[in-house]
Amino acid sequence: MAERFKTVLLFGAPGAGKGTQGELIGKVPGFYHMSTGDMFRALDRNSEMGKKFEAYSSKGELVPDELTIELWQEYMNKQISDGKFDPKTTLLILDGLPRTVAQAKVIDPLIDVLAIVHLNAMDKEAMVTRLRERAIKQQRADDAKEEVVRNRLDVYERETSPVLDVYDSSLVHEIDALRTMAIVMSEVLAVVAPIQERLLTSSKV
Ligand code: AMP
Repeated sequence: MAERFKTVLLFGAPGAGKGTQGELIGKVPGFYHMSTGDMFRALDRNSEMGKKFEAYSSKGELVPDELTIELWQEYMNKQISDGKFDPKTTLLILDGLPRTVAQAKVIDPLIDVLAIVHLNAMDKEAMVTRLRERAIKQQRADDAKEEVVRNRLDVYERETSPVLDVYDSSLVHEIDALRTMAIVMSEVLAVVAPIQERLLTSSKV
């Protein structure tokens, strides 16, 4: 079996800033940011998978586990074969996966989770506001409707937050997602930078 990807999970409710933080870290050499939401949004809307994604995401629902994992594996294989991700020297920053306990179990043989960065946003109304503002800026259909946003947050509480219990609590780093972008970024970096440095050192041995 191929070696598991050395991985840090970016965890948190929709609107907590996983994508923003992941994109910033992804610009630093040695890190590879992968967002399942971006993977789905890049699908051709007329393809079968694109249509399925639209059907679920427009209601704020998750795409079924099997489809998600299958697509993710294909996507990662392509990133490796295209030379965009080198699992030996690069730390995978995984954003948006696993999103259910079943997904966490299925991908366990594929990813070696070294830490979990939990962007913790206790204030639900602040999340609703953030998501609606972002929907306008990014023209995201899913977050433009308040009922869809609220469903996304409910789905997160019901299906995604239990994922944290799958992992050893010593792996979880709690970060207040409502602080400034720069403070959150410095706290995320303080977690992931030493892990990436260790990975690089060990890959040279
Ligand atoms: P995001 O941009 O991460 O909030 O994801 C947008 C939408 O993509 C979600 O509302 C889901 O419909 C779908 N999605 C993203 N990641 C997953 C996942 N791991 N499992 C199932 N659906 C997902």
